Amino acid sequence: MDLFEYQGKQYFARFGIPVSPGGVADTVDEAVAHSERVGYPVVVKAQVQVGGRGKAGGIKLASSADEVRTHAQAILGMDIKGHTVHRVWIERASDIAHEYYASFTLDRGARLHLGMVSARGGIDIEQVAAEDPEAIARLHIDPVTGLSEQDARALVENAGLDQEAQAGAVDILKKLYRCFVEGDADLVEINPLVLTPDGRVHALDAKVSLDNNAEFRHPEWAEYKATEVLDERERLARGKGLQYIGLSGSVGIIANGAGLAMSTLDVVNQVGGSAANFLDIGGGADANVMANALEVINTDPNVRSILINIFGGITRGDEVANGIVQALGRVKINSPIVIRIDGTNAEEGREILKAHGSDHLISRPTMLEAARTAVELANTSQPVAAR
Ligand code: GDP
Ligand code: MN
Repeated sequence: MDLFEYQGKQYFARFGIPVSPGGVADTVDEAVAHSERVGYPVVVKAQVQVGGRGKAGGIKLASSADEVRTHAQAILGMDIKGHTVHRVWIERASDIAHEYYASFTLDRGARLHLGMVSARGGIDIEQVAAEDPEAIARLHIDPVTGLSEQDARALVENAGLDQEAQAGAVDILKKLYRCFVEGDADLVEINPLVLTPDGRVHALDAKVSLDNNAEFRHPEWAEYKATEVLDERERLARGKGLQYIGLSGSVGIIANGAGLAMSTLDVVNQVGGSAANFLDIGGGADANVMANALEVINTDPNVRSILINIFGGITRGDEVANGIVQALGRVKINSPIVIRIDGTNAEEGREILKAHGSDHLISRPTMLEAARTAVELANTSQPVAAR
């Protein structure tokens, strides 16, 4: 779950990371009220979960109530890369001597935490990484031992932060690492981390992504859940209790078991296609679950074909086939469906499907063949809008 900047800053503050005083506003009047309280000059910042707000005109300095009014008016309702601004964050403006970058994330490949610090902050870190990878100091951290004082110091020194900023940055790194671990985040990022002309270091932006698997031990996350931005498909899937993650490809995927669903994504990629989603319908693939799964995939305008990949274990192939047939009777599906059933009672399952087979319901004996057919169909079938 990704937090908005203002929520990320609240999260940072709990761990003692210095942030500017401010307030969040849904209206122009509230924005002015916060500005009067924190004192001018202030920054008016669009709250959307996308980077590059500054360049898009979503971040403005204001030195009077009138200026706040003008900027808040313009920013509220603004569209930034497809995200509508519903809220602004107002904070006391900072004077900036230097902008840095700092983050902690999980390096799944290395099975370690990864800390990154750069003296080239304020701009896209991806751009820095591409143009000048040496400008980013990296350190792998063993989660068992954690980040030591020396580690934090080494990161800051290797990144070449200005001398006056080093002590403050080391202190913030240690707090940021605690926020990452104790706060159960997948990512904590400060860009920019700033040094002010009077020698203070603090966080001017906040990107925090929380680990949903830790939700059970964070009742306080309820307020973040309430403002969570989900796409329409994910909202629908959550309502139906499905393990669904929206992706941007054209082959809708339904599989039983998370491992099988991931392998299905891989095989679709391997044969030149791309998945529209991850969807694990779990062990019991009855008509209800199948109908729900198909309904969610059906709302995705990018889907051109659907691949159902079932391995019968405790759930038998004939039950699944009956489930699919019943589900198809209930939901009108926009895309051709390719089904692969294997495992327990696969033969019986295929027999049942054969009776309902058409050019919109195709059975294939192996995962690879099924993926090939689904990708072919995705490449040749018409977009929903054109049908
Ligand atoms: P992003 O563009 O979405 O990453 O938004 P940021 O919060 O990182 O702000 C973008 C840029 O706006 C920063 O890199 C700063 O240069 C500038 N900025 C943000 N807050 C302040 C501020 O308090 N004072 C000044 N002078 N500039 C600011
Ligand atoms: Mn930023």
